[in-house]
Amino acid sequence: MSNVLEQFKINANAKNWPLAIQACNGLNMTEMLQGLDSLSASVRDQFAAQLAPSGPSYAGARINWAIEVVRTRKIPGGAAPGDLLATGQVQQARNFLGKAKALPPVQRKRLKLTLFWTEGAKGEKVSSILVQKAQDLLRANGDKFTLDVDYRKNDIAFKKQIDFEIDACKDTGIEDIRTLVAKSGVCPSDRLAVVFCEPFLAEKGSNDTTGLQCVAASGRCVLINVTNSHPDHGTLMHEVGHGAGNQHESDDSNIMSYGANRTKINFVQLARFDKAFFCA
Ligand SMILES: [Zn+2]
Repeated sequence: MSNVLEQFKINANAKNWPLAIQACNGLNMTEMLQGLDSLSASVRDQFAAQLAPSGPSYAGARINWAIEVVRTRKIPGGAAPGDLLATGQVQQARNFLGKAKALPPVQRKRLKLTLFWTEGAKGEKVSSILVQKAQDLLRANGDKFTLDVDYRKNDIAFKKQIDFEIDACKDTGIEDIRTLVAKSGVCPSDRLAVVFCEPFLAEKGSNDTTGLQCVAASGRCVLINVTNSHPDHGTLMHEVGHGAGNQHESDDSNIMSYGANRTKINFVQLARFDKAFFCA
């Protein structure tokens, strides 16, 4: 083991991130993969989270590529960054994978959701897309969680529309929905209620809020507007993120932002899911 590899391991495990990044950057691909593979998944994820803010540099892209190899036990799809192929580093990764131990079976925690529909929302076509997108995002961001979805299409009889133009959480209908959800008996306190709603079609305004997470003494619930889907279909994941206590982020690629194509859930946000009341 080279001295630089040793420095990398010591600094990563001590969470001295700048020194760990510096040492990692100085490693050849074979040692970089060995070093990353020696870390626990938790330390490796935290290390990966430190790379993101430094921007898309070649050095960062190279380390991220190596992290992907270690995490997935596969050569990432698409072209390898920079000169990794030309300089034989892709081959070094193949050699590493030939000798690497198989990953232990993944233990995913479950984020438990109970889905309801208001009467006017039952014909919607977005829920399956939003659930699939949330599963895809969780898989692509560490694969530590999976949605446990209980579909309850006929368990609440709520015939009104919800005003997504104002803060829908203040709509008086929400308390009625909460009461119906509680009475249904199918959403115990360790599950998050998600209600697909028909929006109130106001004469003014566009009723364009795609989803909301409402907190009350009686608990949290998520409301999804079935007629206005965010273009990246991340609305359910975003609102479930609020349900776990995650706030808005300014990074447009983060699921908790207002960006147009949100793909990331960061380490801190994943840790909040781990502690959420609807996680098991
Ligand atoms: Zn939000």
